[in-house]
Amino acid sequence: MRKERERLLKKKRIVVKVGTSSLVHTKTGYINLTKLEKLVRVLTDIKNRGIEVVLVSSGAIGVGRKALGIQGKPDTLAKKQACAAVGQGQLMMIYQKLFAEYGQISAQVLMTKTTILKTLNRTNAENTFEELLKMGVIPIVNENDTVSTEEIEFGDNDNLSAVVAALVHADLLILLSDIDGLYTDDPNQNKDATLIPVVNEIDATLVKMAKGVSSDFGTGGMATKIGAGRIANDSGADMVIANGADFGILNEIMDGKEVGTLFLAHKNPDFNMMDYIEKKTYLQ
Ligand code: GLU
Repeated sequence: MRKERERLLKKKRIVVKVGTSSLVHTKTGYINLTKLEKLVRVLTDIKNRGIEVVLVSSGAIGVGRKALGIQGKPDTLAKKQACAAVGQGQLMMIYQKLFAEYGQISAQVLMTKTTILKTLNRTNAENTFEELLKMGVIPIVNENDTVSTEEIEFGDNDNLSAVVAALVHADLLILLSDIDGLYTDDPNQNKDATLIPVVNEIDATLVKMAKGVSSDFGTGGMATKIGAGRIANDSGADMVIANGADFGILNEIMDGKEVGTLFLAHKNPDFNMMDYIEKKTYLQ
């Protein structure tokens, strides 16, 4: 086992982010129940290893859109928010049913940027997470898309999940999407592009490189994922970007297998989440 991967065997509290593309059938956009079932089983089993788990799940808008029979992306904000209101409920209904089959209690936590920026709200959210985890619950987090508009939204769940990782003092953030990890170049354009197994530090060169990688997955591309890595790594959490095509990969990551890209934590003693969110320093 690669030395850097050994640290993954000792994780105590993890945040797993799953994008819409990993939760729906690509061809139809309808929810992939087989995959969702596996996700729930694997997460419950990670919890059974003695590791606390927080899930950040997208899919509200996509699921709601399908339920309401809306073709294509909703064209107004109100429509998008209506889709989220329907979809978030449906998604939670499915998650709670599946988790219950394994005797695992789950909970819904919806957040906006205001939740973090306002001290009282942030403290309340932090306390709630702490209490839920103490109770053995798996919190399922999403942006509160029904009420959030541009000024108060994170906009993508990559950043939201990094903020959640910092808020709950997680020691690992896992981003699952439809790409295997960080490549030296765009793997769709350049056949010689190779997967980078470990990133010691997210520096300016890496940020620049990620900006050049085109991506058609989810809301956030590679650049937002690197931005999320900055928040997570500075807060003291390692981050892994891996392919969510098969959720069994979560077990491989926790077993220290060489999958995806591992970004090593560099705890910044002056870490202040607000700087990252307000000034967007994670994108520089
Ligand atoms: N909050 C959005 C949803 O649930 C997803 C945002 C994202 O995928 O980054 O539909």
